[in-house]
Amino acid sequence: MNVFSDIAFDDHEQVVFASDPKTGLKTIIAVHNTNLGPSLGGCRMWPYASEQEAIHDVLRLSRGMTYKSALANLPLGGGKSVIIGDPRSQKSPELFQAMGRVIDQLGGRYIVAEDVGTSPADMEQIARKTQHVGGINDGKDPARTGDPSPFTAFGVFIGLKEAVRFKHGTNDLADMRVAVQGLGNVGYHLCQMLHDAGAKLIVADLNSNSVNKAVNAFGATAVSVDEILSVDTDIVAPCALGGVINDHSIEKLKAGIIAGAANNQLEHDRHGQMLLDAGILYAPDYVINAGGVVEVFYCREGKSVAETNKHIEGIGPTVREIFDRAKQQNLSTGFVADRLAEERFGLNRKTA
Ligand code: NAD
Repeated sequence: MNVFSDIAFDDHEQVVFASDPKTGLKTIIAVHNTNLGPSLGGCRMWPYASEQEAIHDVLRLSRGMTYKSALANLPLGGGKSVIIGDPRSQKSPELFQAMGRVIDQLGGRYIVAEDVGTSPADMEQIARKTQHVGGINDGKDPARTGDPSPFTAFGVFIGLKEAVRFKHGTNDLADMRVAVQGLGNVGYHLCQMLHDAGAKLIVADLNSNSVNKAVNAFGATAVSVDEILSVDTDIVAPCALGGVINDHSIEKLKAGIIAGAANNQLEHDRHGQMLLDAGILYAPDYVINAGGVVEVFYCREGKSVAETNKHIEGIGPTVREIFDRAKQQNLSTGFVADRLAEERFGLNRKTA
């Protein structure tokens, strides 16, 4: 079992392994960097095939949170936790309370939130043992449901409009064609905002009910999941899975802009360069999908929805700065985003 030599290890400040035999808890918490503030990141519960896979995931995801929070202008660092186990069969209130005790021992260096395999109810169990939990809805503001997806969608909408402004000189979306891949929590909210702004929607989802809903509500054109990335459109918004921008899809893309919510849209970093070479403007996923983490932080701080949305609007100037620098330096937007994040969180690597 390797930590320091795992390919995703990136000078993480702290990696904690903990277990609780009574509840079956086996967890790893990674604090990547706290230069800007306490680390915040979701708790993923997953039946990892091996401990190495869990270590790799928590190292990779916690590093990603440092970059995301830095570019979202939040006073936060990056962290993440994983619980090794099947969320369908191995959850119990006691397991999450044990998780809460472990998080509490970190004294606030790590703030937990929901992620794949965990729910608001699980966070409430954690909150019985520690105050270092985000994403708990106190029910005071009816505009808050505890679901960060509408805020994520709003940030994507802001980033997408900025990409349109950069490419076309105006951010007017009237009659712009947007192909939305995935009509889940984020994708559907994004469709609503795009529709309200006058965009023409093309949609695909594995779930035909979601597709029918979008067709009826927004007059969207439905296409198959195999076609969505290659349709004739101005913008593609990947809101389903990672890795969808790859050798295969880039060849067929007709859109001039990619701006969506899905994490890790580029299969490999080199695909950012391929998009640049093809003249396709890519709004880096982790920059424009940060609305959810802003909401988790603002909710925790007791701030209003209006204040949250105001902060999320800051995604516009940030993504604009990335586009400007990328153009000036003829570099891919993903590469420039990473360097800008490192400037902001003060990456301090030892030189040889
Ligand atoms: P979700 O599970 O609610 O929705 C995903 C949708 O994609 C589902 O409707 C699913 O049927 C569809 N889908 C799956 N495979 C597909 C395919 N091949 N083609 C078309 N559709 C397909 O998830 P979500 O919360 O809406 O998140 C969407 C993406 O955004 C994910 O990659 C997620 O990691 C990322 N993200 C979400 C948030 C958030 O606040 N929810 C925040 C940041 C990033």
